[in-house]
Amino acid sequence: MCSSAINSSSSVSNSTQHDLLRGSSRTSLNTQGRDADVADRRPTVSCPYCNAPAELVRGDVIYRGRPELHAKRFWRCAPCGAHVGCHAPNRRFGYDGTQPLGRLAIASLRKAKARAHALFDPFWQSGRMSRVDAYTWLAREHRIDVEACHIGEFDEAMCNRVEEICKRWMFGAGPG
Ligand SMILES: [Zn+2]
Repeated sequence: MCSSAINSSSSVSNSTQHDLLRGSSRTSLNTQGRDADVADRRPTVSCPYCNAPAELVRGDVIYRGRPELHAKRFWRCAPCGAHVGCHAPNRRFGYDGTQPLGRLAIASLRKAKARAHALFDPFWQSGRMSRVDAYTWLAREHRIDVEACHIGEFDEAMCNRVEEICKRWMFGAGPG
């Protein structure tokens, strides 16, 4: 679900890209398919570790050795080594592809989130249950509102709890 494949159609050169991305005003990037009814909502993103404003960068800044990520966008806090990817441009999240997938995460939290997704997603991806049902169960287990139940927003303790919950479900004490 959160595996965003951002189809960047930007033709802006790398040298000007970051300057454009840092600008607070809306840029002309990725205007293809823009729906006049849906305004882009460029979020204000801050680092949950130091509270400083996060900067929007392209993947080549973070993942130099992974060309497949170079065109994607990330919010990052360089001093903390924290970052998060962005939702693919779409109607719900806006067409400039700048909506973060969740909170900025340092390496250990990124790993915890990936582990949680790897265990949880198969419950609904397999068709065993609907995605809505799976998240409804997960939210109930966490005693949080289903609207707030996004693994991308979880901290490490909550991600670890997802693992416990999923393992319990796998052995029959839960949905599926
Ligand atoms: Zn920070």
